[in-house]
Amino acid sequence: MSKSPILRIAIPSPLRRSFDYLSAGEPVAALRPGIRVKVPFGRRVVIGLLLELVAESCVPAQRLKKIIAVLDEEPVLPADLLELVNWGSRYYHHPIGEVVANALPSQLREGKPARLPGNTVWRLTASGKAAAARSLSNAPRQQALLSILNGQSGGLRAHQLRQHLQNWWPVMNRLDRKGWVERAEAPARPSPASSHSMAEELRPQLNPAQEKAVAAILGSRGGFSVSLLEGVTGSGKTEVYLRVIEQIIHSGRQAMVLVPEIGLTPQLLERFSRRLPGPIALLHSSLSAGERLAAWLASRCGEATVIIGTRSALFTPAKDLGIIIVDEEHDMSFKQQEGFRYSARDMAIVRARNADIPVVLGSATPSLETVFNARLRRYHHLSLPKRAGKAVPPQFRLLDLRRQPLQEGLSSGLLELMKAHLQSEGQILLFLNRRGYAPTLLCHDCGWVGRCQRCNAHLTYHQRERRLRCHHCGSERPVNPNCPDCGSIDLRALGSGTERIEHALQHHFPAIGIARLDRDTTRRKGSMQAQLDAILQGKKRILIGTQMLAKGHHFPGVTLVGILNADQGLFSADFRASERMSQMILQVAGRAGRAEKPGLVVIQTHHPEHPLLQQLTTRGYRQFAAGALNERREAGLPPYSALALLRAEATTAETALNFLHQARKAADLLGSEEVMLLGPVPAPMEKRAGRYRAQLLLQSAKRRTLHHLLDKWAVRLETLKSSRKVRWSLDVDPADLF
Ligand code: ADP
Ligand code: ZN
Ligand code: ZN
Repeated sequence: MSKSPILRIAIPSPLRRSFDYLSAGEPVAALRPGIRVKVPFGRRVVIGLLLELVAESCVPAQRLKKIIAVLDEEPVLPADLLELVNWGSRYYHHPIGEVVANALPSQLREGKPARLPGNTVWRLTASGKAAAARSLSNAPRQQALLSILNGQSGGLRAHQLRQHLQNWWPVMNRLDRKGWVERAEAPARPSPASSHSMAEELRPQLNPAQEKAVAAILGSRGGFSVSLLEGVTGSGKTEVYLRVIEQIIHSGRQAMVLVPEIGLTPQLLERFSRRLPGPIALLHSSLSAGERLAAWLASRCGEATVIIGTRSALFTPAKDLGIIIVDEEHDMSFKQQEGFRYSARDMAIVRARNADIPVVLGSATPSLETVFNARLRRYHHLSLPKRAGKAVPPQFRLLDLRRQPLQEGLSSGLLELMKAHLQSEGQILLFLNRRGYAPTLLCHDCGWVGRCQRCNAHLTYHQRERRLRCHHCGSERPVNPNCPDCGSIDLRALGSGTERIEHALQHHFPAIGIARLDRDTTRRKGSMQAQLDAILQGKKRILIGTQMLAKGHHFPGVTLVGILNADQGLFSADFRASERMSQMILQVAGRAGRAEKPGLVVIQTHHPEHPLLQQLTTRGYRQFAAGALNERREAGLPPYSALALLRAEATTAETALNFLHQARKAADLLGSEEVMLLGPVPAPMEKRAGRYRAQLLLQSAKRRTLHHLLDKWAVRLETLKSSRKVRWSLDVDPADLF
């Protein structure tokens, strides 16, 4: 008899390896890679995932433990996703167990069954059917149950069985032991009607650029291709997605759409469900665990024709995926910033390549990486140069703030424009990427400033709640009327956040309804939607908000957009700051004049002559991107090089730096002249949430060379003694350097 196979299992653990176990006597056919297993691990019992069966282990057979139980019949990570998580673990140098855990809905991570409660059916097996044809005169109840099940090819649920046969359960058990019945997942419940015929006015005639885009995406026989769909906001990208998805569904396949965290608006969903047949599985962060599992199952069994979700939805199994669309591909939220630091956009391309299907990256302001790849013709570059329908592009105007009196951050020039637009029935959107009343509270007598004790950061003053809050670690305290240092009552709020602007606007425009959209005003469920409705119905005519309102929403009545402070991005140390700022300005600008009213976008700045602002407002994103790419090339920055960032944090600055010094030494020993090491240095925000942070940057002109080093280095880092005193993480292709 051949030796029983060894199970190679991924276990949630910070170690960069898998673990070998023996089976507990299960038939080999039941040990399908991708199923979950319960295993002893140290003194605990944990849920692992079977990666593969192997013949040999480096651990002597007598020391291998047996698994405790197999939890699935059907893999929770089918072969294509197993391949994807393996790729993710290798590329991001992250422990496979954590990558797997990241890919599963929480209920599956916890070992709960991969089915919905009450959704199990019982049905006859082949031998059960044979038995039903015979007569079991000595077991009348078994006979009865067999004939009830016979002919019910879809199987029966518990409540149906109860109607047919009282106390059916022990009888079923007996049949089960004989192998005559089996459990299965109930066929999907019919979805709520979504088959109403589509009114033709909802399906506009595509313009030639859209036609071309649809054809190009679906071309090449549906095989793997990457398309960059570049088009300004309102140019009809979503319309292109819809047409492409229609055809994918028509050919019996499923479509996956990934959207940024705050881009998943009710408007977008409504449009998708109105236009597309078949149920949509939604996967986003505010679902309950049960809802998430239900959506996951609907996708896996093929019931859902469209899967829409944020970042982690990428790991949802599908029965027959035909396309992946990444909307607003430049958005930062596609990169996970903790734990497994993957880019869902980049991994979407890997998944599409493995599945041999097309992937579409859509954006009005594509990331420089994507623009670069399109230039090299790795991606098809499709563009929608004009706004669809009757909408016209917005006009830009730079408002020079120098020597201008500012009232709470609003220049008189902007206030005048606001009055004019309100008089002509327009709506106004003001953007400021800072919530709270003021970013700093200062004592005018002694110079005391409210600082967070756990971070290198000022505390933000929230006036209505009379509290000081740290926006980095969440710590907060009440504001006393007196300065804690000198007792003076002359405490002053410096600078403006959205709360302060709202106040100022109420003073300037007492008769106008004002809405504020930021994390403070949208915490309650439904409050965001209530605000948005009030704007869409015209009850509120001025909207002030943070980046929350920059994405996805359509405000057809908005004729004036004000960007209150554009200068933050001009002089930042982060090499991506100008890219981010440009994307943000254009995304906000895209909210203006989407209907037939033209829009005006006003940017308040102290640097109106700055080439970046000039270029962006007069020549658009393409020109900006071209210029920015040249700068990146000269500086040897991505996409002209590959980066990895090793971060460490500890209770003292020294401990964190010490680990990084040792890490650097280890890298030097592994020797790679083509990888440049920069640091270690303290992080730009050195102290955060009570811990000191430092970092070491690795840079190489060749991605392969960098990864070659990382392969050996990551496992070395685990063995460094100093690694036990710090929290460290390796960030491949970091989105920011702090
Ligand atoms: P984007 O996703 O690029 O912002 P949308 O697809 O949402 O653009 O289109 C913007 C608006 O223009 C929508 O109201 C849409 O219905 C409309 N639209 C899109 N394509 C066309 C077209 N070919 N003709 C007329 N209207 C269109
Ligand atoms: Zn003071
Ligand atoms: Zn803090």
